[in-house]
Amino acid sequence: MSNKPMILVVEDDAAVRNLMAVTLETQGYRYHLARNGAEAMIEATTHQPDVMLLDLGLPDMEGVEIIRKVRSWTNLPIIVISARSEDADKVEALDAGADDYLTKPFSVDEMLARLRVALRRVNADPQGASQEAAVYRNGGLRIDYAAGCAFMGEAEIHLTPIEYKLLCLLAKNTGKVLTHNYIVKEIWGGCTASEVGSLRVFMAMLRKKLQTGDGTQPYIQTHIGIGYRMLRVDRGAEDAP
Ligand code: CA
Repeated sequence: MSNKPMILVVEDDAAVRNLMAVTLETQGYRYHLARNGAEAMIEATTHQPDVMLLDLGLPDMEGVEIIRKVRSWTNLPIIVISARSEDADKVEALDAGADDYLTKPFSVDEMLARLRVALRRVNADPQGASQEAAVYRNGGLRIDYAAGCAFMGEAEIHLTPIEYKLLCLLAKNTGKVLTHNYIVKEIWGGCTASEVGSLRVFMAMLRKKLQTGDGTQPYIQTHIGIGYRMLRVDRGAEDAP
């Protein structure tokens, strides 16, 4: 990216907003600030930000409403900021199309880490190209969609049909937190408590099969009470031309 990334900060709390602005400034990001939902919509349409940081507790509009509106014309990454500790509002925001979340109080390091993940998604897949690609590559992981096989390095990963579907779903949404409900709907077509339970079991097996030689598993991240995310791994085949 030749230009500095542009971040849109939507936050009604002046102290938090200023801290975020100062942090972005010192890290070399460009930014625009919005104090409420109405300003957010104007800024999002006029400045075409690369990432939106959206506080869910705004005076004039529900965060979910803003996400739905923004999603009607753009796929830009949205990281929601939630003041509440319960997961329901985050899950609702993710199901409405948000990519990720931060819980208040958060550190500036956490915020910057989430921004890097979001920007990596944009840079890795600027036109949504991974939706169409015949082969998915991420670190040592490779999925050959046409053949219906997945590989770690040169070795084929032996997956059950459900595990393979889960892997593909996560891969096609790399960088994005997918909720339990969303995954269950995509895989089984419905959503009951027993399916969410099954999902945990299948996901545990899949994660185990993705372990690398040193026993770590850098690909699928678990968000307790919320869902799962495929992370972009910056090494191995990913760096090859
Ligand atoms: Ca607020």
